[in-house]
Amino acid sequence: MEKTLIVFKPDAVQRGIVGEVLTRFERAGLKIVGTKMLQPDYDHFYQHYEGIGTLKSRKGDEIFESQLASMQEGPVIAMVLEGVEAVETVRKMVGDTEPKKAAPGTIRGDYAHVTYGQAASIGRGVANIIHASADSDEAQKEINHWFSDSELHDYSAVHEKFTQPGKKA
Ligand code: UDP
Ligand code: MG
Repeated sequence: MEKTLIVFKPDAVQRGIVGEVLTRFERAGLKIVGTKMLQPDYDHFYQHYEGIGTLKSRKGDEIFESQLASMQEGPVIAMVLEGVEAVETVRKMVGDTEPKKAAPGTIRGDYAHVTYGQAASIGRGVANIIHASADSDEAQKEINHWFSDSELHDYSAVHEKFTQPGKKA
């Protein structure tokens, strides 16, 4: 089984929609194997968004600094989800980075509508509810950055009999 990182951003926590968004992942059969609420500092997000995510290199200083400031506006909830090709499945459910472009039915498409231009015009990062690892390499690095081994749990979900050999009802 593959693991991926999600982070409920400050806009999701402050809007009180963490539960209903999380329900979508549980309903799809993804298993929560780690979770915590925390308020990381600039350096933690620098490593997350540039050291691993190359956002500053891709988008420039202004967008990068706006995004880091927006992420520090309140606590976030980080989770590790596990499932069959979890990285790709979760990204599909999360949708396009820009909420305006994100399809209806995706988390960003259903819960937000802002644009890159509007967010940049007010010096904010795009408030798009949730972070999700983009590929398996990023997932591995992000999980190591956000969680220690002892914070990740190993247990059986009842529906794993449908996805794993040797598991019985
Ligand atoms: N972001 C932004 N403006 C941009 C690009 C990105 O505010 O032009 C923010 C947005 O919140 C996004 C995050 O920076 O989710 C990370 O950007 P990335 O390109 O990695 O998108 P993601 O992987 O989150 O879809
Ligand atoms: Mg990314």
